[in-house]
Amino acid sequence: MTENYRPTKAVIDLGAIEKNLAAFKERSQGAELIAVVKADAYGHGAIEVANRAVESGVQFLAVATPDEAVYLRNHGFQTKILVLGATPASFLPVAQKEEIAVAAISLEWLQMAAAAVEPGLLPLKIHLKVDTGMRRVGVLTEEAPIAIEFIRQHPFEFAGIFTHFATADEESGELFQRQVREMKSVIDQVDDPQVLVHVSNSAAAIMHPELAYGAVRIGISMYGIAPSPYVEEKMPFKLLPALSLETEVVHVKKVKAGETLSYGATYRSEKDEWIATLPIGYADGMLRGLQGQDVLIRGERMPIVGRICMDQCMVRLNEQVPVGEKVQLIGKQRDGLVRIDEWAEKLGTIPYEIPCILTKRIPRMYH
Ligand SMILES: *Cc1c(COP(=O)(O)O)cnc(C)c1O
Repeated sequence: MTENYRPTKAVIDLGAIEKNLAAFKERSQGAELIAVVKADAYGHGAIEVANRAVESGVQFLAVATPDEAVYLRNHGFQTKILVLGATPASFLPVAQKEEIAVAAISLEWLQMAAAAVEPGLLPLKIHLKVDTGMRRVGVLTEEAPIAIEFIRQHPFEFAGIFTHFATADEESGELFQRQVREMKSVIDQVDDPQVLVHVSNSAAAIMHPELAYGAVRIGISMYGIAPSPYVEEKMPFKLLPALSLETEVVHVKKVKAGETLSYGATYRSEKDEWIATLPIGYADGMLRGLQGQDVLIRGERMPIVGRICMDQCMVRLNEQVPVGEKVQLIGKQRDGLVRIDEWAEKLGTIPYEIPCILTKRIPRMYH
């Protein structure tokens, strides 16, 4: 463990992740949980999150890329692992050796895979991805019978079949209903208990427990974040946010009325003001668009003023505070709370992006 001399850190509450997973386990009535730990567990740290998930009974992890899967195997994870995205021919023998399941994303992919697998090894584990509406990867619903037949006639292990919803986080509309209907017709064609059926992401697992099938793929809400404001409003259980972001004041000064501060001199003080400098900036993922966002000091909201710099930013204080005063950028402090959703709104994006954009320079601490 390297030293962190700078006080800026993300604190990850693994207990919250465990409780969120337990809530999904109950909600999904016996279906298996697939913990989605792609993109370094949505910025929370893949190894630590996967460890806690496995300790709490999860036996299946999903990632986006082959490299993420190998990374987990290299760290000793012996659970089932599925790569949700595209995998190249060069990876398939590795997938066979490491027993990593891959997604069959098209008929061409299946032909490529049939030629790329090594006959001497264990059969390649395949989850057939059916594109029922995302138009991203997957065989089209009408191609599914050919794909199923192809898998059965080749030395693959037909381990699973899945689809992904485009609008599960909204009120169910025509597209969602069509995706459900198309997937049902494909599942009926498979009729094999060895083939694991999984269709739900966090939003679908929350809103449609009847679609849990064999397993549900839980990403964002394992980390305690609602997939959308719509789902948040309808939540049948409480999600516990896992990530908070903290730092300390490293400098305080009094700025005279009418003075400007930071690059571009965009902020001008109306009266004499106490200004604190925080050791975090856009190179940490605290993007310039967060100018004006509140932080918590002594539980009180105080705004970021002036342009956010690469490594530092400034906050207008309600009162003088000493260097070393604790600052909560995301999370709870006394009676104050800044939620990830608030940053997302400020940046005109969705909460998914926020933990992903906190760069590696911010150490992740666990408790
Ligand atoms: C990322 C991803 C998930 C997880 O989605 P959440 O909305 O984060 O729960 C599930 N399935 C697929 C195919 C994904 O790419």
